Amino acid sequence: ADTVSLPAAEAAVKAAYERYRGLNEGKNADYIPALAKVPSQLFGIALVTPHGQVVAAGDVGHAFSIQSISKVFTLAQVLQESGEQLVEDAVGVDATGQAFNSIVAVEQHRGREMNPLVNPGAIAATGLVKGDSADAVWASISRMHDACAGRTLSVDAEVYRSESETNQRNRAIAMLMSAYERFPGDPAQAVDLYTRGCSIAANARDLAVMAATLANGGRNPITRTQAIDNRHIPGLLAVMATAGLYDDSGKWLFRTGLPAKSGVGGGLIAVAPGRFGVAAFSPPLDAAGNSVRAQKAIIDICRDLGANPYAVTPV
Ligand code: GLN
Repeated sequence: ADTVSLPAAEAAVKAAYERYRGLNEGKNADYIPALAKVPSQLFGIALVTPHGQVVAAGDVGHAFSIQSISKVFTLAQVLQESGEQLVEDAVGVDATGQAFNSIVAVEQHRGREMNPLVNPGAIAATGLVKGDSADAVWASISRMHDACAGRTLSVDAEVYRSESETNQRNRAIAMLMSAYERFPGDPAQAVDLYTRGCSIAANARDLAVMAATLANGGRNPITRTQAIDNRHIPGLLAVMATAGLYDDSGKWLFRTGLPAKSGVGGGLIAVAPGRFGVAAFSPPLDAAGNSVRAQKAIIDICRDLGANPYAVTPV
């Protein structure tokens, strides 16, 4: 079956890049000091098909910290090891309707009824990854990211240090989630490994391969490795559709119909199941914490390529 036509994808990516390259709206995240220093004008878009074709425009080779996008791949690791039921029981799969780092959301349901794509659920999910030591847990988390990217990703040491020095709020969230027994083990370890995951550096092309791995039933379209078991993909994409853009997830779904995940580093991935994965990178964010240009570019590309699964031609 046809996934997406390459000339159409090339035209859509190029058009979105040209349309928004001059747009100067939003502001870099600055609550993590290292993120404020990333040049705001950087802008890149990449799209990868299930056949491994890559379409790119702009700064697609510039590596940046993937931040909350790592939550998807840590969740994939938990699903892989422990299955859907544990995730539902331990952290939940519903939107919180609150900001990604909300403590109110935790208090409302004593740490339940969250989801693994906001900080409390993501820190708990990190604490649910199996391993006898911090190194063993980290090895599993980073292996999952690498398998989906198709190469060994590294941690941006400056971002990791900067965020570790300023993540008091996440440490409080970890303590609270631990107090509510949402995950076993040391909350300090969970928040540290969560922070390390957020500091993983990848470029827009890597992220597009990761998105395309999700679009291709868990098989990396470049390396052809089954990075995530096929049966976990629907649940993973459902949580992305529900909560991938924090409390703007509903708006995003309304506009695109597609599962997606953003990060405060300015990255955004979206998944058109069976058709393509797309990623865009531009550091300035809107009030909800999502990249302004990345959202606009991906919305247009998905519209141009007819990627909304809710849009069908009547028979
Ligand atoms: N590391 C960031 C944090 O915990 C990730 C948040 C994000 O990308 N939304 O605040």
